[in-house]
Amino acid sequence: MKVADKLQEVQRQIQEACDRSGRQPDEVKVIAVTKYVSVERAQEALEAGLLHLGENRDEGLLEKWDKLQGEPVWHFIGSLQSRKVKQIIDKVSYIHSLDRLSLAKEINKRAAQPVQCFVQVNVSGEESKHGLSPEEVMSFVEQLAQYEKITVCGLMTMAPLTDDEQTLRQCFKKLKKLQEDIQSREWPYAPCAELSMGMSNDYQIAIEEGATMVRIGTALVGE
Ligand SMILES: *Cc1c(COP(=O)(O)O)cnc(C)c1O
Repeated sequence: MKVADKLQEVQRQIQEACDRSGRQPDEVKVIAVTKYVSVERAQEALEAGLLHLGENRDEGLLEKWDKLQGEPVWHFIGSLQSRKVKQIIDKVSYIHSLDRLSLAKEINKRAAQPVQCFVQVNVSGEESKHGLSPEEVMSFVEQLAQYEKITVCGLMTMAPLTDDEQTLRQCFKKLKKLQEDIQSREWPYAPCAELSMGMSNDYQIAIEEGATMVRIGTALVGE
């Protein structure tokens, strides 16, 4: 199936989720996650009008950054090793996986310009997942004040892999509550207005619960 056709279906689902929750579709940015697919397929996504692309590994990002024709806005969505920061930092506009001070320090050291960062939160507490526990987030964000190249644009989470709607909603609601708590502090370096949540399996629910960026791979570019 063509990316353009899949995109139409995703846009229809976004519209419906927005209708159900009194939101506007232009409040929700779609990030096409191209980590599973070829350069050609990623090119097709760009041509279908998807401007925001996401990769979770430095190799994938560097290869596509090199070969794609056009100027996508790159999102780094995977866990990031400090020693990889140098290679990707001037190629990405957003990092969705800030989860420790040592990484913040490295980003601060390597970036030429302030970088839009999402603090990753492990809301569900699953051991397999990266991110801070909800209890740790506020003091972590507070400590980021010392790094002038870090802008905390929002919070990111990966929901548990389940079809249970209540579990998913609770997870997204909790992230939104944290985001609003941080936003209300009005720290200049942490506007924290964005919520990066929702993947192929759960983006409709994430949007109903306030997502401003959804990261969609399979449902958008899967073959
Ligand atoms: C792979 C990935 C996605 C997209 O997953 P799909 O289920 O294919 O939509 C989103 N976010 C992160 C962090 C990922 O690693």
